[in-house]
Amino acid sequence: MATYRIITYGCQMNERDSETIAGILAGRGYRKAAEGEDPDIVVLNTCCVREGAERKVLGKTQELKALKTTHPQAIIAVVGCLSQQPGVAASIMKKMPHVDIVLGTHNIERIGEALENVAALRHPVIEVLDQETVPPEGLPAVRAPGVRAWVTVMYGCDNFCSYCIVPYVRGRERSRLPGEIKAEVQRLVDEGFKEVVLLGQNVNAYGKRLGTGQDFADLLREVDSVRGLSRVRFMTSHPKDFTQKMICAVRDLPTVCEHIHLPVQSGSNSVLERMNRGYTREQYMDLASRIRQAMPDCSLTTDIIVGFPGEDERGFAETKDLVRQIGFDAAFTFLYSPRKGTRAASMPGEVPQETKKARISQIIAIQNEITQRKNRDLAGQVFEVLVEGPSERDPSVKAGRTRQNKMVHFRTSAPAGSLVSVRVTATGTWTLRGEVVGEGSPPTT
Ligand code: SF4
Repeated sequence: MATYRIITYGCQMNERDSETIAGILAGRGYRKAAEGEDPDIVVLNTCCVREGAERKVLGKTQELKALKTTHPQAIIAVVGCLSQQPGVAASIMKKMPHVDIVLGTHNIERIGEALENVAALRHPVIEVLDQETVPPEGLPAVRAPGVRAWVTVMYGCDNFCSYCIVPYVRGRERSRLPGEIKAEVQRLVDEGFKEVVLLGQNVNAYGKRLGTGQDFADLLREVDSVRGLSRVRFMTSHPKDFTQKMICAVRDLPTVCEHIHLPVQSGSNSVLERMNRGYTREQYMDLASRIRQAMPDCSLTTDIIVGFPGEDERGFAETKDLVRQIGFDAAFTFLYSPRKGTRAASMPGEVPQETKKARISQIIAIQNEITQRKNRDLAGQVFEVLVEGPSERDPSVKAGRTRQNKMVHFRTSAPAGSLVSVRVTATGTWTLRGEVVGEGSPPTT
């Protein structure tokens, strides 16, 4: 039986697309190559959001040349965001003639036909479409094992943040129909998944062009009603589209977890304006405070870009101040790197790399201190935890997450997928330790 290997870069949307690619290949009789086995087809599902990711993809593509020497019939496919960028497909084919297939983001489901054509004609296939579509419903998928499944609810983004390449490679916002999403979630629950993560570049814009009048809060309500589902999460939220109705939906719907990932990117109004984020520092802080007011136990996490063009000492100080004032549960921090084709790439005021590095270290130190303090406050409290399986670091204990997305390690005989009540007994920056004090969710007061 022919074998495949899929190497995925970037975000969860790409992880989800790779599950579809695996499903299509499995449907054509391929099986996943074992560790150390030379596969018959390698698919690189690529990312170009950050310079580092792009470099890695190109390095890996180059490296795969060696596979063709030991296994000349092997097929190499480069698909996804990087390939969708103008001129990249032609450049790959010119510089790396060992690549057989290049597909963009709008037609990854064509991988099966592309493979057939390459195998029959031994001629490269390049299909990078400008036309934005919603992929056909019902495509097969080989889901990553576990208790959690990813469900894409919308594609693309209309926001054009000045540093971001996504709207150019993923196109404008297109939403799936709520009925199709609900049916997929029901199928996943019937297959044994307990938690779903609803995915989109900006899930709060869900439904805008559907013409049904339904928004993301309405979609959450639909998904919450799926029989047998334990938990719903969603990402990513854009602060400017996060409505009060959304806050109420997260607060009121039993399966929707109290964790909101809300990228702020900067605490400086002038930087936010140049980033074209569509909100001010004050509006963001007001939103965070309304979320906390409605749900005092809701965890808030964020993304921060350090060293955006024109970020001066004052602007950076405003970001540090915002991080301290909000007290995020966690922050994912990134050094700004220009992406060709975006507006920010030609903005003046480049911040030296050394300054960026010094600033990111400061932000990380501040956030780590906050995270540790917030985690320390959890000691002694009891949380509902969804058992995920043995901990990767210490398989003698189980790992699971609270509704607030905190990872906890504990001993239990309860199988993966069970909900247990866990009392936190020790805390660190990244994980908590605990003891099981009961089955299911802790009683509410
Ligand atoms: S919201 Fe901004 S950062 Fe997020 S995908 Fe859209 S353009 Fe990119």
